[in-house]
Amino acid sequence: MSYVDEVLEQVKAKNADQPEFLQAVSEVLDSLRPVIDANEELYRKNAILERITEPDRQIMFRVPWVDDNGQVQVNRGFRVQFNNAIGPYKGGLRLHPSVNLSIIKFLGFEQIFKNSLTTLPIGGGKGGSDFDPKGKSDREIMAFCQSFMTELGKYIGADIDVPAGDIGTGAREIGFMFGQYKRIQGMFEGVLTGKGLTWGGSLARTQATGYGLLYLTNALLKDHNIDIAGKTCAVSGSGNVAIYAIEKAQQLGAKPVTCSDSTGWIYDPEGIDVALLKEVKEVKRARLTEYAAARPSAEYHEKKNGEHGVWQYKVDIALPCATQNELDLEDAKMLVANGVISVTEGANMPTTLDATKYLQENGVLFVGGKAANAGGVATSALEMSQNSERLSWSFEEVDGKLKGIMETIYANISDAAKRYGVEGDYVAGANIAGFEKVVDAMLAQGVC
Ligand code: NDP
Repeated sequence: MSYVDEVLEQVKAKNADQPEFLQAVSEVLDSLRPVIDANEELYRKNAILERITEPDRQIMFRVPWVDDNGQVQVNRGFRVQFNNAIGPYKGGLRLHPSVNLSIIKFLGFEQIFKNSLTTLPIGGGKGGSDFDPKGKSDREIMAFCQSFMTELGKYIGADIDVPAGDIGTGAREIGFMFGQYKRIQGMFEGVLTGKGLTWGGSLARTQATGYGLLYLTNALLKDHNIDIAGKTCAVSGSGNVAIYAIEKAQQLGAKPVTCSDSTGWIYDPEGIDVALLKEVKEVKRARLTEYAAARPSAEYHEKKNGEHGVWQYKVDIALPCATQNELDLEDAKMLVANGVISVTEGANMPTTLDATKYLQENGVLFVGGKAANAGGVATSALEMSQNSERLSWSFEEVDGKLKGIMETIYANISDAAKRYGVEGDYVAGANIAGFEKVVDAMLAQGVC
């Protein structure tokens, strides 16, 4: 049995009740077969795969808090510190009723490789709670966040573990958690990222994921001698990632003609008016019908099951930026039939596995979210650097570094794929490039 299959068996036996974690380990180790087979003896002797699939530690704790009726509520808190071979643990805190140990371990495991890809010194971790922030008052959110941080605060620190936001954890929650950490520890340090601009946050964090996606897409196209200027793009979503992807695409001379939300989509053949989109989504927090009402060139379509939505149009570049599994095999076939050149993922896991395979087999340049949306976490790491320096960099400085990072990520994943005989497979290239760096550090640091 190969080393990968042996370890997969062990991981399955040890974590039988964790389907999400098992799926992530299987997918990552499968795509790493070329590099693991080439170094089997060294990795086996040093138990690299056994060590990398076992978190450094997983912390689970009780989070008691009092609701607005005076009733005590109890949630479960998690922090999985997976691997700190290349830097302090870094990864978001997810607040959602679906959160359990399997999901946090799956996300923490993936985070090791994504963080490694950013070229910055950050390890992998993830945390959260089964607390549901929806429908809670500000006071209840604060009560939860303070109780959560009272326990979590024992295990984190600017050089130990630096959590960030994720689903359910936005600027408000980061603020309450930071306040409680500061109060308990009696010191002000960059222990969380996603902070407000007046107390240690970074300029350009809001734009980072969308801008970063376009910097990487541009580098990918350039490498294939294709000019992004003049190309049309299909974008899904109209949230943080989608809006800034559209803005940067336009700055680079491309023409995004679609966007969507959970109820419908816009087709605007003259190109999306990003100022209007921001007004509708960021200021008014309204539906896309308001965009169509204000823009004569735009068509609004209600979402119906079985339709291709934004993926039915003839475009050169597809940028899925909304949610998981939003681009399936039928959508991929439609894009290919319409001559799409590249698909680069702004969202996490927006393309189904069979759609990814179909795109790759049909010569579409495909870069998965692990590399393509890493601009967000990279800029969080730049926030850590600014906090350590006790300085705030200008927008241009952060944006310039982000551009350099995304271009380097592309170069690294392309190079890794070439070195292991899978040229052009940027999904494998991303896993390999992320993995190699972590393994080098683990080997250098001995048995730990
Ligand atoms: P937002 O919540 O700001 O936006 C999500 C957008 O997707 C909204 O327009 C939402 O519409 C839309 N959407 C949600 N579900 C569907 C659906 N079923 N069909 C069509 N549209 C849908 O999230 P972000 O932009 O921050 O994140 C988008 C994706 O990018 C997520 O997968 C996230 O994990 C990933 N990501 C985000 C990063 C970041 O820095 N923000 C970093 C890395 C990855 P509606 O308004 O109707 O809900």
